[in-house]
Amino acid sequence: MQLLRLMQNYFPPPVLDLLQQTGQAAADLNLKVYLIGGSIRDLLLPHRAFDWDIDLVVENQGEEARAEALARELQSRLGGQLQVFKQYGTAKLGKFKPDERLQLDIATARTESYAYPGANPEVAFSDLHADLDRRDFSVNALAIALLPDNFGQLIDYFEGYHDLQHRHLRTLHPDKFREDPVRAWRACRLEQALDFQIESETAELIADTMKSGLFDGFCSARIRVELRKVLSFDDPIPCLLRLSELGVLRCLDPHLKLNETLLDALNRLEQWQPWFAEAHDAWAAPLCLLLEAVPLEKRPALLPKLELNQHQLRSWLAFEQKSQTYLQNDWSKMPPSAIYAALKAIPDLTLWLWLARYPESPLALTIERYWLEWRNLKPFLTGHELKQWLKPGPHMRALLNELLRARLDGETHSHDDEMTLAQKLIQQRQEVL
Ligand code: ATP
Repeated sequence: MQLLRLMQNYFPPPVLDLLQQTGQAAADLNLKVYLIGGSIRDLLLPHRAFDWDIDLVVENQGEEARAEALARELQSRLGGQLQVFKQYGTAKLGKFKPDERLQLDIATARTESYAYPGANPEVAFSDLHADLDRRDFSVNALAIALLPDNFGQLIDYFEGYHDLQHRHLRTLHPDKFREDPVRAWRACRLEQALDFQIESETAELIADTMKSGLFDGFCSARIRVELRKVLSFDDPIPCLLRLSELGVLRCLDPHLKLNETLLDALNRLEQWQPWFAEAHDAWAAPLCLLLEAVPLEKRPALLPKLELNQHQLRSWLAFEQKSQTYLQNDWSKMPPSAIYAALKAIPDLTLWLWLARYPESPLALTIERYWLEWRNLKPFLTGHELKQWLKPGPHMRALLNELLRARLDGETHSHDDEMTLAQKLIQQRQEVL
């Protein structure tokens, strides 16, 4: 009864109505349907925002995947767009009117088994208990019944509600982390994101699994997804410290240590983020700093596993290969146009890394000046104005570059100065020709 009231408060009325209609549709098809996943956590915890992604499980009957049957029935009653993934026994129904944000992920209850540690699971359809038992933590193994005669009944086979109240992340079985190391990443991430505590035995299991070395360098696609989520936190440091404490960072490289230099640099990224956040996936910056903390000879093994895109890779390589040269440059002796050319050739992400990594250096001071004063500087004259003398093409580009150089180096100060210079340069060129 109390849960029903919580549901009424948490779900917007059309969503609650949709859940009731889902229960009715399932009953009409003689199926059992349950709400599961993150939305139960959010519903039962105070002050958690509503999430429009709703996960449902349909209990299987016989060998058939029933999620599809329920999804099709719901679509015929409520509309929306349907995607069916037959091989997984799942379906997605979304784009409902009037609120297109809502999405129902409907899965047929399943059980999973693992041929070897870290393998992709083998899946078989099953009942609700087995479906909840395959989940990672007790707080993620709660379900709420949605049929008309049990709507709003909490199903809690693993004391998840107790753990939720105590804000504990507790694993359901001792071998969960050996089966799938992604769960160790999820534990640390959820601990920070939800302000929970990994329960002590669970923490020990994670640490023991990682200490065994079984997952050293095991940076699979799903671990990459987790890593990016962690690095996208406003402040990823507490989570990285926890990952390090429990040995989970060994999945990237067993030699990766969060030393003071790295932590200082990670801390400083935020200071410059407003300059760079728009241009990049912000997580790439802390990732490059982590990579730098891996011993030089181990980096070639890790780098391909991180699957950086072209731009990120170029930024990383500039950071790795050009830092020493750029740090040793005597910037004070260089004219602004030379500084401009040197820094323009470097990806912004690398500049951000240098600022965070070498904050007191002449290089950092030069980058700041470049960024604030010179980076967006243009000549006073436009290509359009130059068209009276020159056709657009390489000559015009060269002339504009020369005008920019003169402006950067303080040789011109106005539109008129540039007019005079442009006419002089064009005349010189004609004389040469
Ligand atoms: P978030 O959306 O922040 O990742 P979530 O718990 O909702 O949190 P999902 O990735 O949407 O995570 O996963 C949905 C549910 O699937 C989880 O609540 C959990 O029960 C289960 N789950 C996800 N990943 C795993 C895993 N590696 N092992 C076992 N169960 C998992």
